[in-house]
Amino acid sequence: MWILTVRYEFDAAHRLPNVDSPCKNLHGHRWVVEAHVRFSRLDESGIATDFKEIKAKLHSIGLDHTYLNEVLDEPPSAEVVSRYIYRRLKEMGYDVVAVRVWETPNYAATYTEERWIA
Ligand SMILES: [Zn+2]
Repeated sequence: MWILTVRYEFDAAHRLPNVDSPCKNLHGHRWVVEAHVRFSRLDESGIATDFKEIKAKLHSIGLDHTYLNEVLDEPPSAEVVSRYIYRRLKEMGYDVVAVRVWETPNYAATYTEERWIA
């Protein structure tokens, strides 16, 4: 099997009203998404899929330049955003292994339903 990883960045605002830190105030991030998608075969040209296709799907989820609190039903932490993107990719038919969302260069949350992930 192969796991393809596609990185996608988007800009969005959020606030975490129930967190006792500056995160409760409205602020923005350049969110960095790493989507890890599993494939079991290659096509005749030797690729699992076009990386750009996955990137376009990530963009089509529609989080860029949004206020995430208005898009998601839960407080949009990195944890919640990673699970949201994971589920949207699954709905599109991808065999998603994990979705990692970096909120800052130092802080990321990874959502997976695998028992082991690198
Ligand atoms: Zn934040």
